[in-house]
Amino acid sequence: MTGRWVRGRTAAGAVLAVLALVAGCGAVPGNAPKIGGTSVSPARPAGVVELTAPPSAAVVAAPPCDATASLRPSGPLPAAGQVPAGSTMARILAKGRLTVGVDQNTYLMGFRNPFSGELEGFDVDMAREVARALFGDPSRITFTVLTSDQRIPALEKREVDLVVRTMTMNCERWQKVAFSSVYYQAGQRVLVPSTSDATGIESLGGRKVCATKGSSSLVNVANAPSRPIAVAVQDWTDCLVMLQQGQVDAISTDNTILAGFAAQDPYTKVVGPQFTAEPYGMAFPKQDEDFVRFVNALLERLRADGTWASIHGRWLGEPPAPPAAVYRD
Ligand code: GLU
Repeated sequence: MTGRWVRGRTAAGAVLAVLALVAGCGAVPGNAPKIGGTSVSPARPAGVVELTAPPSAAVVAAPPCDATASLRPSGPLPAAGQVPAGSTMARILAKGRLTVGVDQNTYLMGFRNPFSGELEGFDVDMAREVARALFGDPSRITFTVLTSDQRIPALEKREVDLVVRTMTMNCERWQKVAFSSVYYQAGQRVLVPSTSDATGIESLGGRKVCATKGSSSLVNVANAPSRPIAVAVQDWTDCLVMLQQGQVDAISTDNTILAGFAAQDPYTKVVGPQFTAEPYGMAFPKQDEDFVRFVNALLERLRADGTWASIHGRWLGEPPAPPAAVYRD
């Protein structure tokens, strides 16, 4: 994030320099530049799109399924390093590190600590538990930063071994990837400036509501009966910047992500009830069923031994009971 910020400042500096030159050239009699009174419209983050129709995920309906049901563990979790020969886990052990797709933009879930430069958050800690189970060492991990939209392609191309990134389990995604059992139960809500009169998604008809491309949040906004104007961006922080600059009226996504925004910006508030269920699963390349079962055995242990509760407590406050595992076989 720091790198982007520095680049942004450099680019802004270059633009100002060019404007100064242009202004200088234009300063001839009869064509003097106007001074004062001109306002500059706020910069738009790269790749912003206002949707005129719901994104394709909303219209290509997947066959119905039990989206929260995963694959049963094949037995108790083996000791670190003791995995079956020829398994996905053995392949990961052989390469020496676990590669995990995470977010770096979502405070509390997956974000870059600006002081240490390290990735942190609930999802990052959950990913480290998978590395610990495999290697006996939570630091044997390489993080790949992904936007919402990059999660499934990264798994399909096997650029990562798994994705732990506020990812909702749904039937459409099950067609392309496999999921662990539910490791967090989120739900979609709305965030607005603290001065806003909006009371929830139902009051945002005809108003601009931001969400990221490739997220289930965007589909849910585009399909909301109140007919908001869905504004699609690359990163969740793009939504926060656009809200702060008055370019959108609201952000709508999971309560986890909105809690991070509310903590970062005291001039915002979360309004209205949860209007969807967003069960999070760790996502895997579709063929890696052995690894899904391994991680599900790990999740059983993390729920039972208090690790899940302590990770929840560190990032998201007082832990409720962990979500129960449901299996399809
Ligand atoms: N849980 C939603 C999803 O999986 C929104 C979170 C996100 O995109 O980061 O699409």
